[in-house]
Amino acid sequence: MKKSSEFRFFNENLNAPKNWDEYMANQALIYEKLLASDEQKPFFNNASKYLKIIDRINNEIENENGFSEDLWYSNDFLINRIMLFFIDNVDEITREELRKVYIGKLDKEELNAIAFNISEEFEGYLITINFSLDIKLSIIAEVFTTYMHFKSHEVKNLFGKMLVNFILLLSDISKFNPKYSEDLPNKYREGYSEMSYKLYYGATAFLVAHELGHHLLKHTEVRDKGIMLDYIPNIKSYNINHAYEFAADSFAIDLMLKDKRYEGREQSERKISLDYLTSPLYVILSLAVETNDPTLASDTHPSLKDRYLNMISKIKEYCTDQEALILEGIFEQIANLIKITNKNWNKNWWE
Ligand SMILES: [Zn+2]
Repeated sequence: MKKSSEFRFFNENLNAPKNWDEYMANQALIYEKLLASDEQKPFFNNASKYLKIIDRINNEIENENGFSEDLWYSNDFLINRIMLFFIDNVDEITREELRKVYIGKLDKEELNAIAFNISEEFEGYLITINFSLDIKLSIIAEVFTTYMHFKSHEVKNLFGKMLVNFILLLSDISKFNPKYSEDLPNKYREGYSEMSYKLYYGATAFLVAHELGHHLLKHTEVRDKGIMLDYIPNIKSYNINHAYEFAADSFAIDLMLKDKRYEGREQSERKISLDYLTSPLYVILSLAVETNDPTLASDTHPSLKDRYLNMISKIKEYCTDQEALILEGIFEQIANLIKITNKNWNKNWWE
């Protein structure tokens, strides 16, 4: 009998954490000690530098669910949850396929997620997601959340500083300053955390669903190249059909938004939150920050602009025209804010 994709993951990544949340908790302890022993140490010089953001998001999940669930589909608690949600919500055939998936999270710096080609040696499908990509998604969730709160509350000044802080972080994480978030009055903290968590959840769900798309649409059955690399827009050495990317995006949005409870009902009867609806678009935004011109396609990937347009039209199948206008508007406003501080972009590429 062939070995599982979980076995494959740990076989190929000998030092990968068995339980990501425990691993992060340990990193936090080491990090605290480091800080206590020497205040002068550079605040950030490895993965543990992002802990403050991730830690808060994990606390949200922990408070809600505890850490008791078995990690069937991932070494990461949230990704396992997302898989359980997908598995619960799809037809029988897709469900059998999803049960063969393992998604490993790795403490690596490259901004990358990979759907590995299927292997003769192992059963099922393997995906890896690097922590740095996770970080990007959590920061973009913070940008959005801060922006939404900035508009309506009397502590405008604080939210303004937080907003600038988070936008700068998108291009340079070494500037991280947890101070502002810690200054947030309790009165706002709860609503803020909830929104930020929802967006991070949605963006992660999209990321996972996109990679699942490559597997379930059989893009990973090609025999020539070893792996399918995502999220490196300028890499030249992998010849992947652009159509694969659009297909994986569309698959991902269907997987996220198709809800069996609402089958056959009007769009206005669906109760999908705007946060969740918008979150796939933020993945595109966080990737666009990494590129000089998101209107350019590479050998391997269509332009981020074209992916954005494809995704918007797909999302429209699941929301009302009114909702679509709102989410396009919010996307544009946030993209504009990023453009002001991001020296790479010289045009409104999303238009
Ligand atoms: Zn892809």
